[in-house]
Amino acid sequence: MENCIFCKIVDGKIPAAKVYEDEKVISFLDIMPANKGHCLIVPKKHSETLAEISDEDLAAIIKAAKKVAKALSLSLGAAFNIVMNNGKEAGQVVNHSHIHVIPRFHKDRLRIKWSHLKYENDELKEYADKIRKFI
Ligand code: 5GP
Ligand code: ZN
Repeated sequence: MENCIFCKIVDGKIPAAKVYEDEKVISFLDIMPANKGHCLIVPKKHSETLAEISDEDLAAIIKAAKKVAKALSLSLGAAFNIVMNNGKEAGQVVNHSHIHVIPRFHKDRLRIKWSHLKYENDELKEYADKIRKFI
């Protein structure tokens, strides 16, 4: 994909601080980290979101995320969050699918939490019915 920043990193056209690579995946430090050590796990083949990535590439990136998360835990003594933004409304800025592995530390200031809504009346069942039809 032309003009895709992560495709350019995969092709070696722009530099990145690489931490892991295999046949299908590359992982490097996020240039603007939520916490220091924040890594991105990127499939080498371009796909935009989780909805369109191949099952093979999905398996490869989640396995790589596990390797990188364990390395963050051992090297930095960190807990970690796994985050994947899919689509503009969900905060995706780079339209090449990727998983964030974000190291977490005691009393760090990062917040990955949301306020909770409530379902009214039959809404809970209605939402489940609606979603199930498309699976
Ligand atoms: P998104 O919001 O799309 O899930 O996350 C994209 C991430 O890519 C951001 O956290 C951003 O800091 C990171 N990023 C954007 N451009 C570059 C780049 O050129 N190099 C690296 N290493 N990270 C980048
Ligand atoms: Zn790309």
